[in-house]
Amino acid sequence: MSDKKIHFKIITPEKIVFEDDVDAIYAQGLAGSFGVLPNHIPFMASLAVDTASIENNGEKIKFSIIGGAFQFKNNDAIILTEVAERDVDIDTARAKLAIERAEAKLGSAQSQNEIKAANAAIARAMARLKAASKN
Ligand code: ATP
Repeated sequence: MSDKKIHFKIITPEKIVFEDDVDAIYAQGLAGSFGVLPNHIPFMASLAVDTASIENNGEKIKFSIIGGAFQFKNNDAIILTEVAERDVDIDTARAKLAIERAEAKLGSAQSQNEIKAANAAIARAMARLKAASKN
């Protein structure tokens, strides 16, 4: 493995969710999934409500990423997003309850806005469950 690392930050309006040097970054863009290794050419992508992950010295860490943007340049990478959680910080019981609540709302929805909000809540919770899963 090369000595070169990527300096990577995940930032929300509230906090820095992650900041470290990593060997690789994988994320889900609106146009598909992508991976970035050191010395990649400059790159930007809009992010899906899904997961991202890093590898560092053989360790893998996953994150739920609630949309936002990814930028890479000169081995500096950043994800700017409204909300993100690191795998170990995700409360899976809370995410499952959020899905149950949203599914009940979908069942009784009276407007497109209600349907949209419930589907968005389900997408957030699914991203959290995916990030918290071991594989
Ligand atoms: P809920 O209905 O459970 O609040 P939500 O999708 O509406 O879920 P958000 O508005 O996206 O929640 O996030 C509000 C705050 O709660 C954020 O700081 C987010 O990181 C945190 N959060 C939401 N769900 C979880 C979870 N399952 N585990 C850990 N943190 C969570």
